[in-house]
Amino acid sequence: MAEVVLDKINKRYENGFHAVKDLDIAIADGEFLVLVGPSGCGKTTALRMVAGLEDITSGTMTIGGKVVNTLPPKDRDIAMVFQSYALYPHMSVADNIAYGLKIRRMDAAEISRRVERAAQMLELGNLLDRKPKQLSGGQRQRVAMGRAIVREPQVFLMDEPLSNLDAKLRVQMRAEIAQVQQDLNVTTIYVTHDQIEAMTMGDRVAVMKAGVLQQIGDPQHLYDHPDNIFVAGFIGSPPMNMALGRVEAGNGDLAVRLGAATLALPGAVAAARPALAGYAGRDVAVGIRSEDMEDARLARGGDDLPRLSTTVTMTEALGSEIVVHFVLDAPKVVTEDTKALEKDAHSSDVALHDRGTRFRASFGPRSRVRNGDEIEVVVDTERVHFFDPETGAAIR
Ligand code: ATP
Repeated sequence: MAEVVLDKINKRYENGFHAVKDLDIAIADGEFLVLVGPSGCGKTTALRMVAGLEDITSGTMTIGGKVVNTLPPKDRDIAMVFQSYALYPHMSVADNIAYGLKIRRMDAAEISRRVERAAQMLELGNLLDRKPKQLSGGQRQRVAMGRAIVREPQVFLMDEPLSNLDAKLRVQMRAEIAQVQQDLNVTTIYVTHDQIEAMTMGDRVAVMKAGVLQQIGDPQHLYDHPDNIFVAGFIGSPPMNMALGRVEAGNGDLAVRLGAATLALPGAVAAARPALAGYAGRDVAVGIRSEDMEDARLARGGDDLPRLSTTVTMTEALGSEIVVHFVLDAPKVVTEDTKALEKDAHSSDVALHDRGTRFRASFGPRSRVRNGDEIEVVVDTERVHFFDPETGAAIR
């Protein structure tokens, strides 16, 4: 059994920088865990500590029940796949895959058995005699995977293995890696800054920010129940829309005023978020995913759902949906988290700050809205999220 357990793991670099803070994660035997977060959040540092390539400042790391804090990388029974595949250019594909086994002086028959099996799994069978420069990017990536697979390790560690591939190949390799991992059932920790990779590949996803684990869970749970504004904004594309609203209480009912609109919350919605009533008369961050809004003309049975009246500022037709941009007349939420998210996305709506908040809604393909149209947007209040505007924590 190769359970990997990080128990209160900390990393302070020599210059004093605290890159990983009290990280607690237990990765089950055979699990595919994705560590995701923006650049600099400490995910690579965490992975390198599992690999033994970076010293652990404090905490306990175990692999398969054995404490490995001071165990050298070669004795950890792990195989790593990096962003740069680091293939030997003068060696054939077969020799590249076999190299790690040869230096361990493994029996030649066993080596060729393993190389053949990996080549078959990765569809590299007819490329075994080629040199790396005669391969496409995707094929090189597969050779790097092959090299890890033949080791038959207890744990795979992967650090952004797809980031050198073009978008189409990335999508294809994403599925292939997930399939290989499933077939081999080897405990895997996969680092990426790409939330789509995280969502599509991981059995569970761990979101990190500034060295701190924000939330860990299965992808759908993170998407549906983000614990804070950071996770809400980081997981999902387009990111969750977020604006400041005010909680209003009257006759035992709760509503949220969002700009000119009032979202009456059905009893069940309020009941599912008992802490919300405590915010009556105060501002909250209101989060609405793009797919939880619809063109009022298309919404079936949406007559009693609250509506936002607005003007379309831009449309993006994606075929399966139309992403409609508009400016909501409610203040933008500004917290450390929203700043971090904007920095990560290299975007800023500062110019909008006084006028309102940019929102994106995904309308059905039959919506024919255009730039400049006055529209009504219905909101599925059952799926609206609320966060404390100071701490960023979900209100539940
Ligand atoms: P990226 O996706 O950009 O690789 P990351 O989340 O993997 O980011 P790390 O590489 O783990 O981030 O780095 C975490 C933080 O630690 C960063 O702020 C980085 O600058 C810092 N850091 C990394 N290596 C060192 C080092 N040797 N000395 C000091 N600080 C370091």
